[in-house]
Amino acid sequence: MDKARRRELRDQYKRSERDARIAHCALTEEQLSDLVDATDELVVEQGCFHDTRHAEQWAERNGIAPDFFLPGLRELGGYCDCEIVMNCDPGIVFDR
Ligand SMILES: [Zn+2]
Repeated sequence: MDKARRRELRDQYKRSERDARIAHCALTEEQLSDLVDATDELVVEQGCFHDTRHAEQWAERNGIAPDFFLPGLRELGGYCDCEIVMNCDPGIVFDR
């Protein structure tokens, strides 16, 4: 396989990985960024309780049902508040 073809396949793979991550994220990039910032702040302040109470608080404040986006965030590795901050950063999910 020549170099150009290898690069093409790699780019294709990266794009499909990115598309899959974005598909899991029910929130817009802006909402996700806001959620991660708010959750991060509360994790630093109060710690992580091994649940998603901080993320749920953000959801309530913003009138968004937690069930709408939490299952997708779990697919992205965000099973609790600290994992949401670590694994669901918009820089990772949307990879811009
Ligand atoms: Zn945690």
